[in-house]
Amino acid sequence: MALEAGAQGVGLMRTEFLFLGRNSAPDEQEQYRAYRDMTETMGGRSLIIRALDIGGDKKAPYLNLPAEENPILGVRGARLLLIRQDLLYTQLRALYRAAAHGPIRIMFPMVTHTSEIEALRTHCERARAQVNGPQLKIGIMVEVPAVAVMAEKFAPLVDFFSVGTNDLTQYTLAIDRQHPELASQADSLHPAVLNLIDRTVRAAKKHSTWVGVCGGLAADPLGARILTGLGVDELSMSAQDIAAVKAALRAESFVSMQALAERALAAGSADEVRAL
Ligand code: PEP
Ligand code: MG
Repeated sequence: MALEAGAQGVGLMRTEFLFLGRNSAPDEQEQYRAYRDMTETMGGRSLIIRALDIGGDKKAPYLNLPAEENPILGVRGARLLLIRQDLLYTQLRALYRAAAHGPIRIMFPMVTHTSEIEALRTHCERARAQVNGPQLKIGIMVEVPAVAVMAEKFAPLVDFFSVGTNDLTQYTLAIDRQHPELASQADSLHPAVLNLIDRTVRAAKKHSTWVGVCGGLAADPLGARILTGLGVDELSMSAQDIAAVKAALRAESFVSMQALAERALAAGSADEVRAL
C-alpha cells in the first residue's frame, strides 16, 4: 500500500504489531518470516525496522512486566530490551537473518543515555555474528528531549537519527499524548519541539549523520514544510498522508521553506506557528 501510494521507502516499521493482541511473543522464525517478506516486498528500497517498543502506552500482558506508577516514564523501548535480553536477541537474530534478503536498517526507540546505544550496538554485533548476518545501519529515535539537547554526543554513535515527534512532544511539553483533556495541547508545532529538532539536525549535519522524522508532524503538510526547511533529510508517514505531503512540498521552493522554518523557530507558541 505504501509503495502504491508513492512511498520511496519505509521510515518506521513498528514491530509491536507482531507482539500485541496475542498470548505469547513471536519466536525467531515467525519474526524472520515477517521481516523477510517485508524487505522482499520493498524491492531494494530502504526499510527501517524499529526494535520492540513495548511498555508505556503499549502493553503485552504475557510479558508479565511489573505494574508501574508512571509507565510513560518507566521501562519501555530500549530500556525494556536491555533488561529483557531474551526479547532483544530473538528480534535481532531474526532481523540479521532477514537482512540477507534485502536492505534493512535497525532503529531503537526510547534511547536516553549514550551508554544505552553503546550497549545496544554491542548486542547487535553479537547477534549478527551468531547468524552470520550482514552489517546493518543502526539508528535511534530522538524522542527524549535529553537526546535532542545532547545530539552532538549521540551523532558519532549512530548511523542515523529519526525524530519521533509524538513522544518528543509528550516529553518536552510534559503532556500525556493520550490524556483525554490535554492531548490536544500536545502540539508538535510548538516552537520548543521545533527548536529541539533544529538542534538535532545541526548536530547530525556536523557528523554527516542523516536525520528523518517519523512522528506525526511529518504527515502534516505545514509540519513537513517546516521540517524540510530545517534540513531534515527524510520524512516518514502513513500511506494515506503521502500525497498531501508531496503536493505541499512540491508547491514551494526550498529557500521559502527555510525562511518559514526560521520564523517558526522564533515563534512564541504553536498557534503562532500555525498562523504562519
Ligand atoms: C513517536 O513517538 O513519534 C513515534 C513515531 O513512535 P510511536 O508513535 O510509535 O511512539
Ligand atoms: Mg515514540
